[in-house]
Amino acid sequence: MNSKAELRVLFTRQEIEAAVRRLASEISSDYRNKNPLLLGVLRGSFVFLADLIRQLDFPLEVDFIGLSSYSSGMQTSGRIKVVKKLETPVQDRHVLIVEDIVDTGLTTAFLFDYLQKQKSASVKLCTLTDKPSRREAPVQIDYLGFTVPNKFLVGYGLDADQKFRNLPDICYLEDKA
Ligand code: 5GP
Ligand code: MG
Repeated sequence: MNSKAELRVLFTRQEIEAAVRRLASEISSDYRNKNPLLLGVLRGSFVFLADLIRQLDFPLEVDFIGLSSYSSGMQTSGRIKVVKKLETPVQDRHVLIVEDIVDTGLTTAFLFDYLQKQKSASVKLCTLTDKPSRREAPVQIDYLGFTVPNKFLVGYGLDADQKFRNLPDICYLEDKA
């Protein structure tokens, strides 16, 4: 992180809470009798997932998957690898991917493909934030919290060099003039 960057709030904790409630109500009407598997993508989604499931009052299960893009030097290649497997068999399960952010879309596109190959009953995507200006792979978002500008977001689970995940608001880093 640039040491001359400063934090600005983009969405307050109250705005996030309202968005989580709205998403939970949409998800409830679609999944109430499906015992869905909510699949958090590590690590950024864990705060959102923790708040989201406490707004869902029907049976569900939770698992996590760790994904990372292969990098060569400073460049990400766009190829994704699984760095932590999910432990729950997904065959015939209704899987709801829970993401912190969809940026290029490459991670999510990979994950859709990966889950469909394992013959899940359905795969849908809930993401707290979407940065469509950076999209490289098309991704269908079924439940969306916020569309965000092309800024580097931190807080509410999102990190910069593993820092700032604990901020209760969603912030962005802005270079100081
Ligand atoms: P993708 O580019 O494949 O859609 O997103 C991959 C991952 O990049 C996201 O899950 C997230 O971990 C990270 N990422 C993308 N944009 C941001 C951002 O603005 N802030 C942070 N902290 N991570 C981001
Ligand atoms: Mg993520």
